[in-house]
Amino acid sequence: MNHDVSTSLSSSCDAYEVLGIHPSANASEIRAAYLRLAREHHPDKVRSHSQGGEQMQRIVQAYEVLHDTVSRAYYDEERAAKQRRNVPVRIAETVPLECMEAVEQPTMHFQYPCRCGQAYVIAPDALVQENGYVGCMGCSETIHVVWDEDSDDDGDSGPGERIENEG
Ligand SMILES: [Zn+2]
Repeated sequence: MNHDVSTSLSSSCDAYEVLGIHPSANASEIRAAYLRLAREHHPDKVRSHSQGGEQMQRIVQAYEVLHDTVSRAYYDEERAAKQRRNVPVRIAETVPLECMEAVEQPTMHFQYPCRCGQAYVIAPDALVQENGYVGCMGCSETIHVVWDEDSDDDGDSGPGERIENEG
C-alpha cells in the first residue's frame, strides 16, 4: 500500500518552481508551462510509473492552484507571508550610531541620509526596541545602527566631563 499522496501542496513544493516559471508569469505562460511539463511527464512517457505519476500529480496540483485567479491570489499571499518569515530584513548599510546625526528638534532623534534623498529617522528609545533596525522615511531601505553599549565606561579617564545640576 503506497497510496499516501497528499492532495495539497506541501510547503517545500513551490507551485511556481514545479512549473518552472517566474512568480510574475501571466496566465498564458502558466498554461504553456503546464502543457509542456504535462507532455514531458505524462505517465505514458515516463519509464518508472510511480515516479512519473508523482511528478505529474505535483504539476497538475501546481497548475490547478495557479490557473485560477482567485486561488492564485490566495496562494501568492500565503507564499509571500512565508517568505517574509524566512527572509531576514535586507540591510542597505550598517551604520555606527556616532555616524548618525543627533537632532534635538522637535524631539530628540537620530537621522542618517538615505541615497533616495530622504533619511533614516529614529528616536533613541525606538532604536533600542527595534534592535537598531531603522527604516527610511522615503523608501523601503533599512539600515542597521550599531553601537557599543559599554563605551560609556571603558576606564579611560577622559576630559572629565562634569554636569552640574543646578536645581
Ligand atoms: Zn530611502
